[in-house]
Amino acid sequence: MNNDLKNIKGVGVQREKQFHRLGIKNISQLLEYFPRTYEDRSKIVKIAQVGPGDVAALEVEIVRSMEKRPRPRLSIVELLVSDDSGSLHITLFNQSYKKNFYKNGTRLLVYGKVEYAYGKMQMNSPYIEILPKGVKPEAKIVPVYPLSEGINQSMVRKTMETALALLDANEDMRLDILQETLPLTVKIDQKLMDKWEATKNYHFPASVEKYKEAYRTLAFEELFLMQIGLLLLRDRSTVKNRKYKMKKDGDYIKLFREKLPFKLTNDQEQTYLDICHDLEEENVPMQRLVQGDVGSGKTVVAAMTLLKAVENKYQGAIMAPTEILATQHYESLLEFYKDIPIKIALLTGSTKAKERQAIDEGLRDNSIDILIGTHALIQDNVVFNNLGLVVVDEQHRFGVKQRSLLQEKGEDVNVLIMTATPIPRTMALTAYGDLEVSSIKEMPPGRKPVKTYKVDSSYIERLYKFFDKEMNAGHQVYVVCPLVEESEKMDLKAAEELYLELADYYNGKHKVGLLHGRMKPKEKDEIMKVFQSGEYKMLVATTVIEVGVNVPNATIMYVVGAERFGLSQLHQLRGRVGRGDDQAYCILMSDTKSEKSHARLDLMVQTTDGFKLAEEDLLLRGAGQLFGNAQHGLPDLKVADIIRDLPLLIEARKAAALYIAVHGSDEVAKEYEKYLNERFGAEFINILYG
Ligand code: ADP
Ligand code: MG
Repeated sequence: MNNDLKNIKGVGVQREKQFHRLGIKNISQLLEYFPRTYEDRSKIVKIAQVGPGDVAALEVEIVRSMEKRPRPRLSIVELLVSDDSGSLHITLFNQSYKKNFYKNGTRLLVYGKVEYAYGKMQMNSPYIEILPKGVKPEAKIVPVYPLSEGINQSMVRKTMETALALLDANEDMRLDILQETLPLTVKIDQKLMDKWEATKNYHFPASVEKYKEAYRTLAFEELFLMQIGLLLLRDRSTVKNRKYKMKKDGDYIKLFREKLPFKLTNDQEQTYLDICHDLEEENVPMQRLVQGDVGSGKTVVAAMTLLKAVENKYQGAIMAPTEILATQHYESLLEFYKDIPIKIALLTGSTKAKERQAIDEGLRDNSIDILIGTHALIQDNVVFNNLGLVVVDEQHRFGVKQRSLLQEKGEDVNVLIMTATPIPRTMALTAYGDLEVSSIKEMPPGRKPVKTYKVDSSYIERLYKFFDKEMNAGHQVYVVCPLVEESEKMDLKAAEELYLELADYYNGKHKVGLLHGRMKPKEKDEIMKVFQSGEYKMLVATTVIEVGVNVPNATIMYVVGAERFGLSQLHQLRGRVGRGDDQAYCILMSDTKSEKSHARLDLMVQTTDGFKLAEEDLLLRGAGQLFGNAQHGLPDLKVADIIRDLPLLIEARKAAALYIAVHGSDEVAKEYEKYLNERFGAEFINILYG
């Protein structure tokens, strides 16, 4: 009841509906509807102090005022204003109705961006407040809220102000609506504000300093809660200490190493050591993330880990995001294990009923040691006899939820996750706060770095000849065009046109294939197979080939409209080539004029270090892109920014870990269930509380 929006003076049925449209259903949610930015009118400066590009608040007097009507429906009011330091032009569009207020000698507070145009210093459509005689302008910082149709800035501001005043006057109501989720000790340690102080100052900062304090408080609270959730998730299994630890490496692993046609890199060895530590020493099942660039050799490590499980009388499973990848893993593993007496099987959506039955039986009677497959593995009717290890490839396709479904298929299931989207370690700690992390940074020896070039469309003729030459030499070419969701149709058309153009250009010489996101998975697989077989020499695709398919014969990755991809994405695409012995090329085609885009593409040309590119990508595009809901199963943060607030986040993680250490997982889980539910939703809670 207390939380009802209608308790706010001025909010009736109509207004309530408008707020509903912004996703605001009660006062708590209103209070968490935070400003997008602020107008800092707290410092009023002199005209002489500002220059083009500055956003400033000025106290001025009207010297001259006139209206122009260049077209019947267009009115332009021009004001010349001044203070004791200089003068400035103000232009207002279609505010004819106000012109009578703007008389010579009227004092104004104006706030806006200063520009220099046509030889004049001016402001276009600034915020204007008329100052009555003797009234000083109110120096303040004003919130700017995100809006949607039918609701305007002053409406939200007014409602927020009224709501804050209402709660200020009514403590019971306030305690009911606004909950402190931070422990007192943490608040004191971190020198944070009260939540109420922070909330007020985050909406209407009393000063820049207060704003900073408020931001820090609310951001910390949010990060603390998130870390509590992640740490509880990690500790969840501590409760049920595992019964068996695995033994030191035995005969199978020895044999595997003997027969391996190459030597593991140092990073591969270290990663395997990390894994062995988890499996042999720790009291809780493994939850480890292995990150390494495409081609860094994650599969071998997975193969050894699975084999170790089998050696310890467990069954293992490996799950890949697509059928092609699952099949590829199956084939790699067959090869790796060819001298070892174990049995592996492949289960995908297209496994025939009869074979499926055999697999079911083999899993139940323990005669199948390792199962390789797609999402099909998660199905309820896939039942293992003694599942002990699950490997999940390409983590970003699966959420926390799927991971835990797999884990439930055995008693003490160890989980190894492999991702080719490398992220800096500190970031990994955050995004995957419930996982340990190993990184494979070093590439297997002898690999030639992919040569990367940035070109514009004036190079097309030369490029096509170059492709021709490569294809004549028996190599294959990927052509990728971007597919952006909101304009899928248009992009598809662009891809189809490019396909027709290339098919026509190479007509009679080389076969060209087309692969796009609108196709059914089956169709995609078919086309990929034809490309893999070498029948298609060139494949025109939308980004669907991002997932790690291996075609060692492909030497060229040609990306059209390269500026529309993120650095990590481009890096992933580049990783599709250079998997064989021949020199490979990545050609980034872009006609963009944007300097920022050029800087990004230049970075691709300069470095092949996926970690470095991921870091840059994070800085350039923000965390939301990399850590969107889909990837880690957590919703976006409202106040904090994982990148900008990294130091704060590390503090929050420490504080959360300490709090859990002192009070115990169970206690903290009980205490925080409600808050975590409100903040992160039912799905997260289901995983955590079962
Ligand atoms: P990822 O899964 O990390 O993209 P893969 O495991 O598919 O990479 O490895 C890419 C290729 O490199 C495979 O053909 C693999 O056999 C080979 N490879 C892996 N490790 C090494 C190594 N230490 N030395 C030489 N070749 C290796
Ligand atoms: Mg791989």
